[in-house]
Amino acid sequence: MVNEKVVFITGAARGIGFEIGEHFAMNGAKVVLSDINQEGLDEAVDELKDRGFDAIGIKCDVTSEEEVKAGIDKTVEHFGRIDVLINNAGIQHVAPIEEFPIEKFELLIKIMLTAPFIATNFAFPHMKKQKFGRIINMASINGLIGFAGKAAYNSAKHGVIGLTKVSALEGAEHGITVNAMCPGYVDTPLVRNQLQDISSTRGVPLEKVLEEVIYPLVPQKRLLSVEEIADYTMFLASDKAKGVTGQAVVLDGGYTAQ
Ligand code: NAD
Repeated sequence: MVNEKVVFITGAARGIGFEIGEHFAMNGAKVVLSDINQEGLDEAVDELKDRGFDAIGIKCDVTSEEEVKAGIDKTVEHFGRIDVLINNAGIQHVAPIEEFPIEKFELLIKIMLTAPFIATNFAFPHMKKQKFGRIINMASINGLIGFAGKAAYNSAKHGVIGLTKVSALEGAEHGITVNAMCPGYVDTPLVRNQLQDISSTRGVPLEKVLEEVIYPLVPQKRLLSVEEIADYTMFLASDKAKGVTGQAVVLDGGYTAQ
């Protein structure tokens, strides 16, 4: 499905980004993992290389225009092209609006909305020349419905769905598709840390937090696995999905169906 495709993934030292990289690699893709965390990135790349996969690591803080450009340039220098761009890097900050530091708000917007714009900007010329490209922006169900306390995350994820639609329109006649993935709760370090905070505050085990806080919100009563997200991302990156563009694809165990 993605054999020989060159994929560049931001925020790929761990969690969903790493899992996507691993899945692409297992399916014959050439993988560029990038992340702000050099140590985590080195470990992640070593793990793929030790298993014989064609992978490189490029340190890249997505808030830096120069580093994003360099990341894409190095990808093309090394592998000759860039077929798939996955704008995945993300962070979370939860606070009521009147206590939300403006600099935090701006940082989250920069990482999860401005950075996908910048990366798209730099990847588009290569993809247009190739007459082929797949861009996948990691949004969230937070891009579709509101969640109290998540002003910045929610705004960024809503915004990146808008960016996805515009990029899809501009890429359409050049063989480029652009889609947003909207996962619900996925079993990752980001979500585990949030659950751990609730568990510590309430003095109850993490499993109880899942049963009492998360499962009542999710009709399937489970966290999604990173493998499910990675599989769907690979489908969107494949030739089979060439007619799918400008969409917000939802994988949420039924959360937003309610
Ligand atoms: P994670 O915290 O496990 O991984 C995020 C990665 O992004 C980390 O490796 C981190 O170092 C990197 N990163 C942070 N700031 C960066 C920066 N400035 N430049 C480059 N890299 C940076 O998170 P995750 O759960 O794997 O989430 C990945 C994406 O999926 C995020 O965009 C998140 O919003 C989205 N998402 C996650 C869930 C979930 O349930 N985990 C649900 C919906 C959407």
